[in-house]
Amino acid sequence: MTNTINPVIPYIEGDGIGPEIWQATKKVVDAAVNSAYQGTRKIDWLEILAGGKAYNQTGTWLPDATLEAIREHKIAIKGPLTTPIGEGFRSLNVTLRQELDLYACVRPVRYFKGVPSPLKEPEKTDMTIFRENTEDVYAGIEFAKDSSEVQALLAFLTDKLSVTKVRFPETTALGIKPISQAGSQRLIAAALDYALEQGKTGVTLVHKGNIMKFTEGGFKNWGYDYIEKNYSQAFTMNQFKQLSAKGGKEKAEAALAEAQAAGKIIVDDVIADNFLQQILLYPEKYQVVATTNLNGDYISDALAAQVGGIGIAPGANINYKTGHAIFEATHGTAPDIAGNGWANPCSLLLSATMLLDHLGWFEASQLITQAIEQALETHLMTHDFAQMLKIDALSTDAFAEQLVRFV
Ligand code: NAD
Repeated sequence: MTNTINPVIPYIEGDGIGPEIWQATKKVVDAAVNSAYQGTRKIDWLEILAGGKAYNQTGTWLPDATLEAIREHKIAIKGPLTTPIGEGFRSLNVTLRQELDLYACVRPVRYFKGVPSPLKEPEKTDMTIFRENTEDVYAGIEFAKDSSEVQALLAFLTDKLSVTKVRFPETTALGIKPISQAGSQRLIAAALDYALEQGKTGVTLVHKGNIMKFTEGGFKNWGYDYIEKNYSQAFTMNQFKQLSAKGGKEKAEAALAEAQAAGKIIVDDVIADNFLQQILLYPEKYQVVATTNLNGDYISDALAAQVGGIGIAPGANINYKTGHAIFEATHGTAPDIAGNGWANPCSLLLSATMLLDHLGWFEASQLITQAIEQALETHLMTHDFAQMLKIDALSTDAFAEQLVRFV
């Protein structure tokens, strides 16, 4: 991306409902940009291929040219992709994230008035999740039962590390969970920087360090350590504990009150299973969340469900150091409804607002968010929400046309 007035932005249409939600998204984004800048700015969309369309046209699921285009233009937007089975890919999405080292999966979750939700007060949910995107059990270091790799690993564990705790060694499969200090700290730094930029006052580290002391516990400890050394604008509950142990609880409470009065970011940590209860019971307590890969997967889907489901949950995968980023619908290809005009384009469209924010085109982004708010509040909605409310639905295209009228 070289031109800031007419940037070239590659897009991957995606499989299943991908083309439907992409057409809707493009229409609304172009209209919002035009409305915000009166023709002085325009996105030059560049189609790049991945998934089924790539396979049909080039015989490969993820052509090299696709990765090269994203490397060159830095950012891209994509619809959902089918995971090819038995093609040597764990998943196209995971491959894209790993190839470009997109280490932060960023998922803002908020409620839009009018959307059916299982909660009594869904508007209290408003948080942004920073999920580590390159490590943990997602690294793909996993070996099948009866494989020679499992035998070799078991022999190593027993002979060299005196491990005796593999319960059924004859029938076990093994997976490895790498979590590093470097990987954890760069993700946690991204969450802190975001909190500072957005004027947030709370960051929560979510982990399972009570059980996995060195991996998940490492994430928490390295996080606190990094924040305490690098962010004078933050006060951690680790510092609180230390002050409490040294000088008594009163002293720690006074330091916390002082930090709050000074507008510092208060950083705490919560164990992952408890966190899943907390976000249901007291979602208003959390603003920015930094967590490991697997926890982040569960948490972002649980939160999405709280505010109306995956049709409306946006996401971005970002490397803040190289500037590479892919903005994407967080749901899958929805093969059950593809071609029906039932798909909700909001997930991809809200991902596009994150892209616009990334470009600094806040005015256009704001127009889209306001248009979605206006539509949903007045019950102009796609099939997924309309069927829950037992009202008439707009087709994906008609919904997009409605948004175009609002921007
Ligand atoms: P899915 O997200 O495609 O669908 C789950 C349910 O949600 C379905 O009932 C579907 O109709 C509904 N749904 C999803 N998005 C919707 C939308 N925008 N509007 C209305 N309803 C929507 O999950 P799945 O069925 O488990 O996966 C299907 C395929 O998608 C698989 O090949 C999977 O690997 C792939 N997948 C891709 C991504 C991605 O590209 N980021 C993510 C998840 C799954």
